[in-house]
Amino acid sequence: MDVCKGNKRKYYRFRADRFYGGIATADCMGCNMDCAFCWSYRTRIHPERFGDFYTPEEVAERLVKIAHAHDFRAVRISGNEPTLCKDHLVDVIRAVELSDPTLLFVLETNGIKLGEDEKYVDELLKCHNLHVRLSFKTGTPENFTQITNRPREWFELQIKAAENLYNKNVSFHPAIVKDYADAYLVQRLSDISPEIVNRIEYESLRIYSHIRKRMRERGLVSAQNSVEF
Ligand code: SF4
Repeated sequence: MDVCKGNKRKYYRFRADRFYGGIATADCMGCNMDCAFCWSYRTRIHPERFGDFYTPEEVAERLVKIAHAHDFRAVRISGNEPTLCKDHLVDVIRAVELSDPTLLFVLETNGIKLGEDEKYVDELLKCHNLHVRLSFKTGTPENFTQITNRPREWFELQIKAAENLYNKNVSFHPAIVKDYADAYLVQRLSDISPEIVNRIEYESLRIYSHIRKRMRERGLVSAQNSVEF
């Protein structure tokens, strides 16, 4: 099922969340990766079972309303991968900025689309209220396919995304899953600029019971001792 329809996108939830000191969150559906530890895989795999389609204006209105109700300073799209519907995403960010220029829009992304298409990053440059959290699922190409179920070459697209964001001066930081972090990735980011390394956020995995089975199926049992159950 296509999660983008015209300039609408499918979402399954709007909520207030505690991250970033409090953030209004729209949970979208659909992703171009298939990570073994994805906590939202049910809505990703079965988009037909959940949610509704929303215009950018409807999403922005709900985000701003939640942010104002809770006195939050930030909003985001989370759940699955926000970059899938490009025009929709850019329009949501700009509609939030138009409604309240003081709100920060945090774009949490796996970066594949931003690595594939430099022009996508140019579009994001038009948004002045944006910070990108570029989420790396693993620190080396060797286990990239095992973890994400996508071609090993896509690891390079994530690196390219960091390069595009840095070169175009977009506010961003890399987040790396701590359990699969690797000196190789840190070196690759440092090769773009040592400054990026100082921005790295190490993310801890929480392996809920419904995800454990998927981890085992991917042969990731060797990492289980270092993750939380
Ligand atoms: S990139 Fe995120 S949403 Fe997509 S499969 Fe991986 S963890 Fe899930």
